[in-house]
Amino acid sequence: MGFSLNDFHIHSTASDGTLSPGTLMLRAGEAGLRCVALTDHDTTQGLVEAREAAEQIGIELVNGVEVSSQWNGHTLHIVGLGIQCDSEPLQQGLAHLRACRDQRALEMGRLLERAGVVDAYQGAMGFASGQSVTRTHFALYMVQQGFAPTARALFQRYLAAGKPGYVQGQWAELDQAVGWIRAAGGVAVLAHPARYKMTQAKLRKLLRVFQDQGGQALEAISGSHSPLDNQTMLGLAHQLGLSLSQGSDYHGPENPWIGLGRLPPLPQQEPPWWRCWPTRPD
Ligand code: AMP
Ligand code: MN
Ligand code: MN
Ligand code: MN
Repeated sequence: MGFSLNDFHIHSTASDGTLSPGTLMLRAGEAGLRCVALTDHDTTQGLVEAREAAEQIGIELVNGVEVSSQWNGHTLHIVGLGIQCDSEPLQQGLAHLRACRDQRALEMGRLLERAGVVDAYQGAMGFASGQSVTRTHFALYMVQQGFAPTARALFQRYLAAGKPGYVQGQWAELDQAVGWIRAAGGVAVLAHPARYKMTQAKLRKLLRVFQDQGGQALEAISGSHSPLDNQTMLGLAHQLGLSLSQGSDYHGPENPWIGLGRLPPLPQQEPPWWRCWPTRPD
């Protein structure tokens, strides 16, 4: 497969992105991308529509998912790339996570009502429109209701850890998340590693555990990293023998600072994640 302009971490309306899977593929094609992975939070629901559009547009689509997980009190996001969507263990795991999301949304709704947000749960569910419900959907509703000018400001006031609407998710243990992805023939990638605000020592410890559990790659280049973060993570991946991935974490045009595929290329001398992909198509 010829990967040159690639983006292996993007979201659609199947979770908290604002573009439909089809429109997203169209935008990716317009941006000149060759290969993208759709990686919605805890769901593969968007992949059918995305694949249809990708085939029409002539862009390569990798089946992906971003699994919510936890390790040592940290919430971690594990991207699964090249997964087979009909995998039973994967789909059972994701269904469980979505059920946890629904429960958490109810609890968040109760807390936010107490903080003065009328119809918080119903409003957020309206934005989620039956798909995987996230904190972003609460942010969209509350920005619409005038609680803050932007989603970012809204998170800072209401939805970040320690704020009035925050409820810790009951996510998959790290080994479960990795296991589901591997069972589905996919490659397990630790997403946006610099976002966890861990010391280098802690991150190293996590990555050793991740590798022992079957984790294979690091999203060293991320749209949510600084250039220095990217360099640091490339160095760490090299030292630990992890393969590399890159992703914008695009959620839609509302966040103009994160563009589709606007990422520096992966260093050619290092192994990319698809080297670990056992079921890779020709
Ligand atoms: P959840 O998995 O339901 O806890 O929601 C996490 C999602 O919220 C992330 O994937 C981001 O899309 C979004 N998010 C998290 N923190 C922020 C923030 N500070 N500003 C804007 N969006 C955020
Ligand atoms: Mn998100
Ligand atoms: Mn994430
Ligand atoms: Mn993401």
